[in-house]
Amino acid sequence: MTDTDQQSAAVSRRTVLAAGALTAVAVASQTRWAPAASAAAKPAIFYSPHQDDEAIGLAGSILEHKAAGRPVYLVLVTDGANPDLAQRMNADPCPLTTWASPHPCAAGGHHGLSWPTDGTSKIVAARTAEFMASAKALGVDKVINFKIPDDGGTPAAYNKLVSRITTKVKSLAEQYPGASHKFSAGWLDRTAAHKASSDAAYRLMNDGTISDVRFNHIYAYVRPWDRRADGASYVLNIPGSHMAIKRNSIYAYNTWAPSRNLYALGYHSVPDWLEGAHGDPREFVCTLPSDYRLGKID
Ligand SMILES: [Zn+2]
Ligand SMILES: [Zn+2]
Repeated sequence: MTDTDQQSAAVSRRTVLAAGALTAVAVASQTRWAPAASAAAKPAIFYSPHQDDEAIGLAGSILEHKAAGRPVYLVLVTDGANPDLAQRMNADPCPLTTWASPHPCAAGGHHGLSWPTDGTSKIVAARTAEFMASAKALGVDKVINFKIPDDGGTPAAYNKLVSRITTKVKSLAEQYPGASHKFSAGWLDRTAAHKASSDAAYRLMNDGTISDVRFNHIYAYVRPWDRRADGASYVLNIPGSHMAIKRNSIYAYNTWAPSRNLYALGYHSVPDWLEGAHGDPREFVCTLPSDYRLGKID
């Protein structure tokens, strides 16, 4: 296929999917799914498990809620510690440029860094600088940083992660009664911090602490185009003006500006997801499945 053929195929697939999604959820989108203007004073709180998840899979939903007049609060759940990323940033030339399907490096292939490889020093602050730049692009009303260590490796650490998230979400729910809460669909995203977030939501829904709850399938973009909506209850078709803003938030993760503590870490961490989201004007919103199971997914 030529590039043009691929684009036409993508457009026709998109048209078909959009039409299907509209048929399936037309009534629901008028009632359940559209952010309620009557709840104008109640914030919509979005929980991004890591720096970059809000740009990949929450941005369109954030902008939808802002456009409906809702205050939007964006929570960074974990600190995003990542030893592998530190090692990748220290390598010369940049490993991205040598992958089987290489990605361009915003630094031109040479980073000139010798960061500590504990994964916390440098990485946490620099990832958070990207997150703040992204939050600014999205125009959220408040950023809240839970600063929970991103450690869910062992079952004990995973349980600790869930209970730390649960405690902090509960406290926000008490502070902002009537808020809606938007998490990652951890049972689909399948990484510890994402699953721990939906486990926390499940616990708080069961004890009645939170009730207006949705989940975005943030990692949908690595799947083929026509499989990305699998498991979603609602496909948000992001309007062009919002997509332009979402892309600006994605660019915060591909900006090399060391003087501002920006090192394109997002694009050195999950370039395929960011690229996928950049090219797809959809987000995938879920409700908790009836057979939801608590616990770490390996
Ligand atoms: Zn994540
Ligand atoms: Zn690089």
